[in-house]
Amino acid sequence: MANAPTAAAESTPIFSHWIDGHSVEVPAERTAPVFDPSTGAIIARVPRGGAPEVDAAVTAARRAFPAWRAMPLIARSQIFFAYRELVHRHREDMARLITLDHGKTFPDALGEVMRGLETIEFACGLPVHLAGLNTPAVSTNVDAHTLRQPLGVAVGITPFNFPAMVPMWIYPIAMACGNTFVWKPSSHTPSATQLQAELWCEAGLPDGVFNIVYGGREAVSALLVHPEVNAIQFVGSTPVGRTVFETGTAHGKRVGAYTAAKNAMLVLPDADMELTADAAVAAGYGSAGERCMAQTLVIGVGDSADRLRPLIEERIKRLKIGPGLEPGADMGPIYSAEHRASIVEWIDKGVAEGAELVADGRRFSRSDHPDGFFLGASLFDHVTPEMEIYKEEIFGPVLGIVRVATYDEALALINGHQYGNGTAIFTADGGAGRRFELEVDVPMIGINIPIPVPAGYLSFGGTRGSAFGDLKMRGEDGIRFFTQEKMVTVRWPSPGRRGKLNLAFPGNS
Ligand code: NAD
Repeated sequence: MANAPTAAAESTPIFSHWIDGHSVEVPAERTAPVFDPSTGAIIARVPRGGAPEVDAAVTAARRAFPAWRAMPLIARSQIFFAYRELVHRHREDMARLITLDHGKTFPDALGEVMRGLETIEFACGLPVHLAGLNTPAVSTNVDAHTLRQPLGVAVGITPFNFPAMVPMWIYPIAMACGNTFVWKPSSHTPSATQLQAELWCEAGLPDGVFNIVYGGREAVSALLVHPEVNAIQFVGSTPVGRTVFETGTAHGKRVGAYTAAKNAMLVLPDADMELTADAAVAAGYGSAGERCMAQTLVIGVGDSADRLRPLIEERIKRLKIGPGLEPGADMGPIYSAEHRASIVEWIDKGVAEGAELVADGRRFSRSDHPDGFFLGASLFDHVTPEMEIYKEEIFGPVLGIVRVATYDEALALINGHQYGNGTAIFTADGGAGRRFELEVDVPMIGINIPIPVPAGYLSFGGTRGSAFGDLKMRGEDGIRFFTQEKMVTVRWPSPGRRGKLNLAFPGNS
């Protein structure tokens, strides 16, 4: 493997940065541990990069830019087709690596890879996506056309929870547009990161077009101020996203930051309650709630909550919680011991705030995996908008039921929340669904769909505290984000004819 981890003295593998088409190894003292959350064991070490590694990666990307940008579109697209085939062929290997250090179940990890592939497949059509407009005869003997050109060096800074899918929503678009790329992945879940570099190499990508620098605050700070970085897409928590946006834009970069969420599903009394309970449990506890599109609030209108609650409780009792590779596991462990402790604190806080704890996942353990970071599913009822557990993202397997009398009250809660990433309505009434999509102030909407992640060729992003910047990731917005549009106005006078000198502002009629 071109980018396989090297062995440390104590035989723990050490991952390497990937710069200019090569592994850049680091000594063990400049690394951090990577855990298997199902056992609590250290399974690898990951470099703690800083300004020197960032500079080397950005310099390599800048050097590779002119040739990559000039490569004929069909040749560039063929590399994407090759990469698509390799990722598809290795999808199960990649999913196993995701499960290994993230903890999510294997089918969930495989779903992640497949949803990432959709955006790679979209990027294969780059010659069409980069086409401009051509408008003949905007004036006498004058035509106009537009060009889309790459910006230069693009950066992706990504979170722990989707080590393949979220980067695959960023780098294919950036690179398809002709930019070269530096990826700063999460250090908590690096195993699938390494495989992506290796597959790009095998697909024939020129050296320097795709680079990886590991690290935390120090590496990110260096990227935000580097003069040769042109554009940054960040996915992660809101405080870090806000800093990335403010610092990056202050240094002249185009920045999009896609951040935290607290998604609510609105349930009308006419909804199919069995289907809605399945949806609530899948969306609330899938991936142990560590998804930015998890629905963590169920807003029941009228008697919906009374009818839904026992159905959710029944399903929680049947959930199988175990290591992600265990056959039949519905939910894996939490990704880190610290995060597990923070979720337990949130549940303690919910109890102290007066919410009714209907199911308590705090004491769940697996006797055969005593050091794993497991947590059971928790359910609160009678959550109210004044509570912190209503306002803040917990990012764990904790679902809260909120009770309201009317649709309008529910809508006002969703539109007034500090976050606006995804939302859903459950109803049998088409008119209610239509009204919701027009009135709700959240961009990603499901109608009887619990996790409304748009298809990989559409754009993805939230509003309010869930996103900073004007453009979303992927899709049309992604192409706009990673290109500069030029508008060209051209005059080719008719042979032998010349207009008169005229100092008035040029008109088009
Ligand atoms: P995080 O903010 O801790 O980390 C995100 C990235 O920033 C990582 O690469 C990390 O190394 C880096 N980072 C962390 N702390 C930093 C600091 N102080 N200075 C500079 N860089 C820093 O987020 P996370 O815990 O990895 O991911 C979970 C968060 O991501 C949740 O809030 C979740 O909602 C959000 N998320 C959002 C989306 C979306 O599309 N809106 C998608 C997935 C995850």
